[in-house]
Amino acid sequence: MQGTPYQFFVQWHLTERCNLRCRHCYQQKNMAELDYAAVRQGMANIKEALDSWETQYDMKLSPSYQFTGGEPLLRRDLFEILAQARESGFATSLMSNGLLITPDIAHHLWEAGVADVQISLEGLETVHDYIRGQGTFWRTLRGIENLRNKDIDCIINVTLSRLNMGQIEGLAQLAETIGVRYLSFSRLVPCGRGEELADEALTPQELAGLYRSLEAINAGGKVKVSSLDPLATIAAMKEDVPQGDFPVGGCAAGMFGVTIAADGSIMPCRRMGLSIGNIAVQSFRVLWAESPVLWSLRSRQSYHNGCESCYYWAVCRGCRAIALAYARAEGKEDYLGADPQCPYYRKAASQ
Ligand code: SF4
Ligand code: SF4
Repeated sequence: MQGTPYQFFVQWHLTERCNLRCRHCYQQKNMAELDYAAVRQGMANIKEALDSWETQYDMKLSPSYQFTGGEPLLRRDLFEILAQARESGFATSLMSNGLLITPDIAHHLWEAGVADVQISLEGLETVHDYIRGQGTFWRTLRGIENLRNKDIDCIINVTLSRLNMGQIEGLAQLAETIGVRYLSFSRLVPCGRGEELADEALTPQELAGLYRSLEAINAGGKVKVSSLDPLATIAAMKEDVPQGDFPVGGCAAGMFGVTIAADGSIMPCRRMGLSIGNIAVQSFRVLWAESPVLWSLRSRQSYHNGCESCYYWAVCRGCRAIALAYARAEGKEDYLGADPQCPYYRKAASQ
């Protein structure tokens, strides 16, 4: 049944190399990286899967690649990869720290037809520089300016913690001044170097207060502040909430996209750091259909300690990466337990 195309994204971390060393980075160790030939082959592998879904289920897909790192601009073959991705019918976007985006690079990105570039900004100058390094705030803004001069859409992305929760309004005002229309955010996942910032992670009450304040921020300005974080979606949800045992929104892991790490490892989400196979040696079509990890993420009965009996399960399921990071801190490899920052649990009528 054709109709509105289903979106499916592949977030591809092309390298773990980086020109920064941010305090909250979830990168845990250096990783080998696939060369261009292997990346190309991996893309063909993914395309084969998506083509087969379209035929098998008589559906239309709208696929995209989000290339990131580390810092993706450290890959010398980035522009060949972008060209290859577009050739295979995928929209492309980039996630970068912005420091390497000179006018020349911005021009090449425009030529490559990237749909948008997501740039990380952690707060206003003092907070950003504390997290990402001295002097990086202004260098990041220069990168954004170079992109905007080529009319490339930019999205500012903030990793939320106590360090910057009071600066969202200020960042939205800054975004408006520099011609950026979107500000997105994700929650700090206390893993990798981010473990050292575990005490700065928000409590459920702080998170609820922050999400409540977004309505006023969004009403007052031209910048859209939003997040794909399932809990943020719930906070903004007004209409009837779909019930049932099939995910229709919320956490993308196992459902609406996949992550490829630099060495080809396939992960439900990079922040989970949980490999289920390798794009260089396994059929993506088969893995997507058969991986027990992916099926556990899709199955209501696999969840425990909260989400499984929640009214919002089909549209939320919490952040599995955050659940896993907290479980790991207690020595457990459990990604299906409660999202410890959730303020919204509500018992479903059917449970
Ligand atoms: S318990 Fe919280 S995180 Fe889990 S589904 Fe419900 S609202 Fe979402
Ligand atoms: S695990 Fe968390 S970060 Fe990953 S897709 Fe789900 S909600 Fe997003």
